[in-house]
Amino acid sequence: IIELKEQSQQLSTITQMSAGIAHEIKNPLTAIKGFLQIGAANPDLRDNYQEIILDEVNRIESIVQDFMMLSKPKSSIQLEEVGPDQAIAYVLRLLEGEAEEKGVKLSSSFDLEGTFLYTEPKRLKQILLNLVKNAIEAVDQGGSVHIAADYSGDNLTVSVSDNGPGLSEDELNRIGEPFFTTKEKGTGLGVMVTKKMVEDLNGKIYFNSKIGHGTLVTVVFTKEENSKK
Ligand code: ADP
Ligand code: MG
Repeated sequence: IIELKEQSQQLSTITQMSAGIAHEIKNPLTAIKGFLQIGAANPDLRDNYQEIILDEVNRIESIVQDFMMLSKPKSSIQLEEVGPDQAIAYVLRLLEGEAEEKGVKLSSSFDLEGTFLYTEPKRLKQILLNLVKNAIEAVDQGGSVHIAADYSGDNLTVSVSDNGPGLSEDELNRIGEPFFTTKEKGTGLGVMVTKKMVEDLNGKIYFNSKIGHGTLVTVVFTKEENSKK
């Protein structure tokens, strides 16, 4: 017989995390329920709420997807030969609409033709997507976001820079913490999941930022690192 001892440390992390997840999911659920109830009572109002309900469902879906990504074991990664230029082009294509809508100038400079990396395209794209999305969200109308990539000495370096408000030292210390967000509609999961994906791909991620001076995020992947596997 053994007595199960208190695991206060471990438990408090789990408790905090559960509370956070529950809270993040409960908010959109409450909104969905409310709009469905109004719609049920006033059928002619229903159409007005469709879009909000869909937005809230999408929000829950993306929170759940982020958590699923966190629990995926590193061993599930299938490395393949990937042209990093294709991943960057994909992300630019995907976000150019959003940037234009916001009046943000999205530019890039890279010459990666003929270079490749052993990596997982899905995670690589998601990493870049999260970083560029944050940059677009950080800058005001008229702001700019630049993606630069360089391959040298077996290192692929991709950087995303913006001329947004930047981060205070305090914020910089908290970035990547679960649920740390300064946005009204933020989840504070993006950087945490990005960090995990970068680690999964044996890369490194650096945030360089100063209030009033924009933000530069750099990710570095080494060709050698992954081809050893
Ligand atoms: P979310 O985008 O949902 O807020 P993230 O984990 O993606 O969550 O980002 C966490 C926080 O980090 C953001 O709310 C913002 O305060 C800060 N942040 C991330 N990227 C940038 C950036 N490029 N410029 C300024 N702040 C940023
Ligand atoms: Mg984000």
